[in-house]
Amino acid sequence: MNAGIYVQVPFCQTKCTYCNFHTGVFSQDLYAPYVDAVVREIAEYPRLLSEHGISGIPDVVVDTVYVGGGTPSLLDPNSLRAILDAVRAAFDCKLEEVTLEADPETITPEKAAAWRASGFDRISMGVQSFHDNELKAAGRMHRREDVFRATRTLREADFQNISADLIAGLPHQTDESWNDSVTEMLALHPEHISIYLMEIDEGSRLGLEVLNGGKKYSAAALPSDDAMAGFYERACARLATAGYCHYEISNWGLTGFESRHNLKYWRREPYFGFGAGAHSFNGMQRWANAHDPAAYAASVGQGRFPVEQVEKVSRDQALEEELFLGLRQLAGINLAEIEAKYGTNLGSRIEEMRAQGLLEWHGPRLRLAADRLTVSNEVFVNLLE
Ligand code: SF4
Repeated sequence: MNAGIYVQVPFCQTKCTYCNFHTGVFSQDLYAPYVDAVVREIAEYPRLLSEHGISGIPDVVVDTVYVGGGTPSLLDPNSLRAILDAVRAAFDCKLEEVTLEADPETITPEKAAAWRASGFDRISMGVQSFHDNELKAAGRMHRREDVFRATRTLREADFQNISADLIAGLPHQTDESWNDSVTEMLALHPEHISIYLMEIDEGSRLGLEVLNGGKKYSAAALPSDDAMAGFYERACARLATAGYCHYEISNWGLTGFESRHNLKYWRREPYFGFGAGAHSFNGMQRWANAHDPAAYAASVGQGRFPVEQVEKVSRDQALEEELFLGLRQLAGINLAEIEAKYGTNLGSRIEEMRAQGLLEWHGPRLRLAADRLTVSNEVFVNLLE
């Protein structure tokens, strides 16, 4: 069976104002011991799994690797090579997609050449916006010009698969600035584009400012929900015209450039996560590592499994996952197959939601209604009630 490997690198240069991830600004002294821990965790994973009663996957073949964060492009290229070497040594690999997340300002010709030589063939670049005032307010380190320079550098280093992302709903974003950012993105012509809707919660400094008031993070300059939905819908139309296939709520690819690794998450295919806070799934169990990088590294250093929680996925949970992960994909789900697999009948609930315009049939497949993609979470809550 094929599986993916995810490696989490939780280090950033600064904390973006909207970020609610378990990442942070750590001393660079932690980078090398952290990488050593990741390499050791990968090398020892069969023992670590079996000591915790977690089933390995017989005859697993790894076909995708994704090194994300955080900002993994901050690491020394030799460290990234050591991580890939550890994966190749520990697993039977037939690698078809090896992705590195990189922030534009960290990309240099030397690093890009070293990444390519060590086996990375796809770069996921955090662009967010092509307007410097929006980038600055969000606490990003790069500016518009860095995106163009970084893309040229990656192309010169023979990266033929680049993903770039935008965020709809940044402070100071307007109809005009958003349209500009989409125009610039299309001119850049990456093979893959992600567009994320700004999420505001108490896990970020911007979210706290929205709740508690203040002026430091430009909460007052956030676009309205309606404006944000309009940004997204206009981008959907323009990306379709430009030849990008919308295959998941937040993701578009030129033909053949859908993210193989990320598709595993939505298709409930297995993946092993390494590093602080990394999640894993073997088809029956989900488990997650400790979030604190120092605690994680110390745990691995003592030969212990850095896991924080292991959860057996019940039949009901598996059914829920099939529905909400499946419906994130624009191709939708084969409801009859899912009902047969779980011995259930969802007909009346689905019909009710279809009548409300939340879901729609496309031949034999059930999909989120095209005008409900921006409120998908509400539809999923409704469906799983
Ligand atoms: S670079 Fe990414 S992970 Fe790091 S703070 Fe910014 S949004 Fe969060």
